[in-house]
Amino acid sequence: MGKLTAIFGGTFDPVHLGHLRVALEISEALDADVRMLPAPVPPHRPQPLASPQQRLTMLELGLRGCARLHADARELRRAGPSYSVDTLAELRAEIGAEVPLVFCVGADAFAGFVHWHRHERIFELAHLLILTRPGAKDRIAWPEALRAQAVRRRGVLGDLHASAAGRIAELAVTPLSISATAIRALVAAGRDPRFLVPEAVADYIAEAGLYRVEAPAD
Ligand code: ATP
Repeated sequence: MGKLTAIFGGTFDPVHLGHLRVALEISEALDADVRMLPAPVPPHRPQPLASPQQRLTMLELGLRGCARLHADARELRRAGPSYSVDTLAELRAEIGAEVPLVFCVGADAFAGFVHWHRHERIFELAHLLILTRPGAKDRIAWPEALRAQAVRRRGVLGDLHASAAGRIAELAVTPLSISATAIRALVAAGRDPRFLVPEAVADYIAEAGLYRVEAPAD
């Protein structure tokens, strides 16, 4: 079994310390490198204020000095809609059939998992790591259609190293009350995002003049 690969996607408009702390904790818990993938936003959804290149640049700046966290721009390079299943298939083809691949998703996103494009195929390509906040109250909401499978698929973190794909585990991560939406609003109000984002990202936001105007309402 080769070295485990974990992926963690998001809009990262901009990347902030909440994202980076989660990625670091995934990396430590799995003893793995984590690829962070900025996602294109479908045309029918409100568009990020920063361009794809700016979101990638901020991610790269934020990851400087983090040896085990990497920016992966593959979804931004793809033409047309970007589905997680396609990204996982592409990565699987690159790393080979044997290496464990772990797809990290927030507990909120997991609640809608059965509506994702070809979600069944995702289990053939990767393990799922569901990120929760510590504490008994934040239980995973298992989608109805997954309940039957849950018993079969559910495992502990160590299981993710023992096979290439197909298991579900959960990881309680440190909750930081930071959101990209709040950061954009704060900058639009003329305030300083420092200490919510890495220093270099705060400098970049200022230099590029990002987020000075709030997004128009939908
Ligand atoms: P927005 O406010 O624009 O919706 P966001 O801060 O939630 O953005 P995303 O880029 O959409 O950031 O999030 C990427 C992933 O990071 C998602 O799985 C999301 O649940 C998770 N995430 C976002 N903020 C935090 C945080 N403070 N702590 C832990 N996870 C977070």
